Amino acid sequence: MSGKLFVISGPSGVGKNTILNRVVESRDNVQYSVSATSRAMRPGEVDGKSYYFVTRGEFEAMLARNELLEYAEYVGNYYGTPLGPIETATGSGVDVVMDIDVVGALKIRQRVENAVLVFVAAPSFDAIRQRLAGRGDVSADVMQSRLERAKWEYSQAGQYDYIIVNDSVERATQELLAIMTAEKCKTMERIHFVKEEL
Ligand code: 5GP
Repeated sequence: MSGKLFVISGPSGVGKNTILNRVVESRDNVQYSVSATSRAMRPGEVDGKSYYFVTRGEFEAMLARNELLEYAEYVGNYYGTPLGPIETATGSGVDVVMDIDVVGALKIRQRVENAVLVFVAAPSFDAIRQRLAGRGDVSADVMQSRLERAKWEYSQAGQYDYIIVNDSVERATQELLAIMTAEKCKTMERIHFVKEEL
């Protein structure tokens, strides 16, 4: 049985990381897809765990070697999903959760038929603004670009399979776990159990 891809998007600062960390901690057989990025490391981030931090040149070399399932340029930096770890995980029945922007998510929808797309919305735009300001590494210009990007991302949410509103991390985490459980119980995932008995 092969693992499934769960693609999580939502504006920067909406709390996707916290939700995904909790999901990975609370479930066996779920792996977080560590992306490659050309953006600078933030305080508290760990290379190889938060992201693979690479130069623009290194990123372009990965692209040229076809090592990425998808990639996008987001507010001036490259972000992309390494393909190898995903193939290894799903090939051995492990589900993969990934935090990627709307452009990348819609590319995955075209390439991976049964990928599940989940959009995480903030309770309000003010909440996003406050979280971005709290990070400390975001200048007024970058903050403005990220907020504009968030507005555009909201306009694309109708293309997702599910929407979670993150007004409580606990509830948002439970909702994502529920979505993952339901998706794993879909008839096309389970029919082989029944057929084996015929
Ligand atoms: P941040 O700089 O705040 O960590 O991430 C900025 C945006 O890049 C977020 O919306 C995040 O979902 C997106 N992102 C992170 N990794 C990837 C990736 O591998 N591919 C794509 N397309 N977007 C990504």
